[in-house]
Amino acid sequence: MAKLTYAARLLCAAAFLLLLSACAKKSPSDEATKAEGDLKPVAEITNKTKQFAGLFDLYQNEKSGSLYLKILPEQLGKDIIHHMQVSNGIPGNNIYHTMGMYFEPRVLRFEQYFDKIHVRQENTIFVHDEANPVSRANHANVNRPLLAALKIEAKDKDSGAFFVNVDSLFLNDSLRQLKPSPNPEEKPGERLALGKLNAEKTRFTSLHNYPKNTDVVVEYVYDNPEPVLPKEFGSDIKDYALGDERSLAFSIRHILIEAPENDFTPRRDDPRIGYFTALRQVMTSDSAAPYGDFINRWHLVKKNPLAEVSEPVEPIVWWIENTTPLEYRDTIRDATLAWNQAFEQAGFKNAIQVKVQPDDAEWDAGDLQYNVLRWTASPQPLFGGLGPSIGDPRTGQILGADIMLELVAMQNRSRMEDIYDVPASITPSANTGFHPAAQSHAPIYMGGAFGSAALNAMGADTATVSRFSEEFLYFLILHEVGHTLGLNHNFIASQHQPLESVFDGERTRAQGLTASVMDYPAANLSADADTQGQFYDVAPGAYDRWAIEYGYSTALVDSEEEEQRLTNILARSTDPALAFGNDADDMRRPGAGIDPRIMINDMSGDAIGYARNQFELGQKILATLPERLLTQGESRQELVNGANVALGNYGSAAQTVSRYIGGVMVDRAMVGQEGANDPFRPVPVAEQKRAMKILEEYVFAPEALVVPAELIKQLQQQRRWFFFYGKTEDPKVHDLVLNIQKSVLDHLLNPVVLKRVQDSSLYGNEYSMTDLYADLNLAIFAADATGNVDTFRQNLQREYVNRLIKMSKPSAEDARQQQAQALARYSLKQIDRQLSTNGNDPASRAHKEYIQFVIREALNPGNAGDNTSA
Ligand SMILES: [Zn+2]
Repeated sequence: MAKLTYAARLLCAAAFLLLLSACAKKSPSDEATKAEGDLKPVAEITNKTKQFAGLFDLYQNEKSGSLYLKILPEQLGKDIIHHMQVSNGIPGNNIYHTMGMYFEPRVLRFEQYFDKIHVRQENTIFVHDEANPVSRANHANVNRPLLAALKIEAKDKDSGAFFVNVDSLFLNDSLRQLKPSPNPEEKPGERLALGKLNAEKTRFTSLHNYPKNTDVVVEYVYDNPEPVLPKEFGSDIKDYALGDERSLAFSIRHILIEAPENDFTPRRDDPRIGYFTALRQVMTSDSAAPYGDFINRWHLVKKNPLAEVSEPVEPIVWWIENTTPLEYRDTIRDATLAWNQAFEQAGFKNAIQVKVQPDDAEWDAGDLQYNVLRWTASPQPLFGGLGPSIGDPRTGQILGADIMLELVAMQNRSRMEDIYDVPASITPSANTGFHPAAQSHAPIYMGGAFGSAALNAMGADTATVSRFSEEFLYFLILHEVGHTLGLNHNFIASQHQPLESVFDGERTRAQGLTASVMDYPAANLSADADTQGQFYDVAPGAYDRWAIEYGYSTALVDSEEEEQRLTNILARSTDPALAFGNDADDMRRPGAGIDPRIMINDMSGDAIGYARNQFELGQKILATLPERLLTQGESRQELVNGANVALGNYGSAAQTVSRYIGGVMVDRAMVGQEGANDPFRPVPVAEQKRAMKILEEYVFAPEALVVPAELIKQLQQQRRWFFFYGKTEDPKVHDLVLNIQKSVLDHLLNPVVLKRVQDSSLYGNEYSMTDLYADLNLAIFAADATGNVDTFRQNLQREYVNRLIKMSKPSAEDARQQQAQALARYSLKQIDRQLSTNGNDPASRAHKEYIQFVIREALNPGNAGDNTSA
């Protein structure tokens, strides 16, 4: 068998060599000349067509709408950057594209092959040092996809320009997969299917051309004659945005950009600062980390190179779109310009300018030459804001950007499902190719919605409420503009101030409430109106100024001196105010991330203490909601919204606290860097125990979270259409509370977390898995082991026991977690032994006997009997 395989391999190698020599004999260009004999006359294409002159001249047939592209001979083989953005989308959890979303840009080349023009996608990631002879083999085992083959229809005799029909390039998905592949985790019918692309209906909706870019917008139409409707489809207003489910359409703007050739100097990426990057692997490097990634940044050049601070030759100009509500414009302008404070540290004055798009402007916001702050109001907004940019994949130079802002961010109309059910993030993949900045920004407006509901519930005065809105908008704009400057999220930045200082407005205004506007911090609300300081940051923080200094300060000419200069800037990373951690590190999802400081919706260097304040605040708000949010003559919808965001925020605080259990703090300083900690430091045992205690007190204990009867009986949604069909409208408070508890158990019993608890015990973690189980058993069972059990605790105890049973099975999902399995089994036995029904009310007795029955049945199948009382 082995011999045969070897022989087969030899045969293949021989065949391959033959193929190669066959190819070498014929040159495509010789053949091309021959093939050009039977082309159409150019006039046949240029007559009766509308012409758009630009980078690639476009000719659209006036009768059929068919589109031709003219390629000059000198444009063959040249790098063309292909940028795609969603001009208009359809609702449905991101999958069907959302307006403003960018795809990762790619580098394309046109190549002539006989009578065709091939469209090839270049791979810009695997690069070689050209001085090394091995660079001649620079495409070894790297795929450079041929995306399309376009027939040459005509050739201009004088200029040698080719005319190709590009209907087959743009009116289908040859340039990029547009319809998502089936998700194996999704059941059929769970999501409305997109159907088949209809070539007859798919069409060009706008054509623009400029000297350096050619711009084509296409409306893609998908037909699905008998769509399977997802369960409960039609019971939410957003479903009505589809009009007719059999025909779904979205629009994509394709821009072909001439790759810039200028004196832009790429700057290397570093793990200690978070920039979006052009990924590069240096194949000829002998480094252990042969990473040649370049950060994404604008091409800023000092007007006066000798001045310490100078204006740039070309500033970054932002346009406020003419759709922007008038009352927001001043704040948007001021917040955008606030980034100039950061650029001063990098040696630039007025690096950013802001203008307002005139109402009669002839250009639209999709035009690449304008960076526009845009406003929309969508039926199902997936973000409060979005700040994508186009980086040249070869150098990282940012070529353009837009910011999408959703009106919902400024309104308090978000409902529970809108806020908490959106995907936590969109994973960028080769398949969909979304820009990483497309990560959902829902948590930002979640904070905003909670903030305004809480202020209303606390009876804050109008001035405070409007200050909150203004600070929120200021922060939102700073955050999105930060993305377009190249910056990632920084979710550790909210650790900046000690807990006792977060409400000290004077101090936070001077030092920053957080260290970076690139965080999703909790809205900083004090339970006491007299101590209310800043709600949000209104200026770039210490980390932001440092990151901009690294990215934008002018390079030295000598490369060694320049490397030393960058090293010196980076050496400051051990300053706690300059810490960094992004979406790949944060702990919002159970099992993801390891450093509890890198978390969303938290605040202060003592996030556990801050969460404790939020629990107290939450309880206080739930009690005052009916009094504050009910208005004479109106329905109770505002009360429902307020209660939902208050409970959602309570759950989010619980998750923050839970992450400290099993947490490991990360330091990415380089070896020997001054002020550095060990790369991995387990959270001190006292802190882990404190987190468990607070979870016990505010999440697990009897009456940990009290939802007052006065509130529950008023939680009535406003009836509409048949939206209650198949559902019941009464408040499900037991489910709401259990969901908060479950979200904490999801972390504490997560196999990845338990594995880390075990591993980290090898380098300093003193809170063992045995401690964790023992404390959890106490928190969930001790208080009522011998007394009556309330209905919330009954739910919690059943949930916990069911999870333990599942984990204790030898066939459990992660059987390597032997210690976790054994401890789960041990805990079940302990719980069984602990329970006593003596003197309990009938409901508590029934509950405990049931718990004992399922434990015994699980540990000893078929022999549990009914002898469960103790
Ligand atoms: Zn963001």
